[in-house]
Amino acid sequence: KIAVVGGYGVGMTMRVPHFPAPGETVSGGDYAQGPGGKGSNQAIAAARLGADVSLLTAIGKDHLGDAAAALWAREGVGHEYVARVESSTMVGFILVDDDGENEIAIAPGALSRLTADHVEGFRKAIRDADILMVSMEIPLEAVGAALRIANEEGTTSLLNPAPAVPLPAEFWPWVDILTPNQSEAAQILGLPVTHNLSAAEIAEQLRSRTDAAVVMTLGSAGSAVFDGADFQQVEAFPPARVVDTTGAGDTFNAALAVAIADGEPLDRAARFANAAGAHAVTQAGVIDALPTREQIAAVMAI
Ligand code: ADP
Repeated sequence: KIAVVGGYGVGMTMRVPHFPAPGETVSGGDYAQGPGGKGSNQAIAAARLGADVSLLTAIGKDHLGDAAAALWAREGVGHEYVARVESSTMVGFILVDDDGENEIAIAPGALSRLTADHVEGFRKAIRDADILMVSMEIPLEAVGAALRIANEEGTTSLLNPAPAVPLPAEFWPWVDILTPNQSEAAQILGLPVTHNLSAAEIAEQLRSRTDAAVVMTLGSAGSAVFDGADFQQVEAFPPARVVDTTGAGDTFNAALAVAIADGEPLDRAARFANAAGAHAVTQAGVIDALPTREQIAAVMAI
């Protein structure tokens, strides 16, 4: 059983020949719309791997919110705790130019209304879960409430610190497993992102702050596990081709949580998660790229 607290939003992507200057209108290429948000992606990914998943996020009383509920129903994600609030469902406007650069604007809308009280209402789901997975596209008070409640209920907590901000001091002792990428690791520590620290050095810095196990994602280099005693690099699986890395981090986190809930040790869970991430980058889009157990097994067999 996995409980997930995080964001849901819709990405609206438009290709343009070049970015519009202030006052300019650019007419251009294709448009695509797709569901996203780390909480929702992670919940769907975990459900696809067979986990019993309950999601807490916030959506609006609008048609995008209706579409989200339909998506979770289709994907077998428990969404009875999802808050529907008087605001619009989060949207992100993404412009991609001919060079592949992007410009993104996000309206968090409903997500900015997710409160510690909503999380308190989710306490039973957290208590009943083997693991709580939290990401940070939601107000910090909701992140903190989720971690605190997991701690009170004796549920293992996994914090995916994305998007990263310096973590308040009181959060650190509530976290059991931390899953930053390298720049997020620097950001949650309050270090400048440009700080050129190796994975091992970042792990050391994190260790001075927390007893949490750290699983750092390293993109095409796989991941690294730091369990307090040892720092261990866990090799990536080479993907057949890299088509779209969007959602690889969410896939990784969900697979890691599922493996840990299954009782796997951290290094084996990270290996399984690497294989899940390697599958995700071979497919376009996010939801379509989330693997099944069979697809992960196929990656690991190569
Ligand atoms: P994020 O987007 O959160 O920074 P990463 O890009 O590090 O996430 O990807 C998450 C995980 O997906 C990596 O730790 C790795 O296991 C897998 N992965 C991502 N890109 C590749 C790649 N090019 N080859 C193999 N595995 C990859």
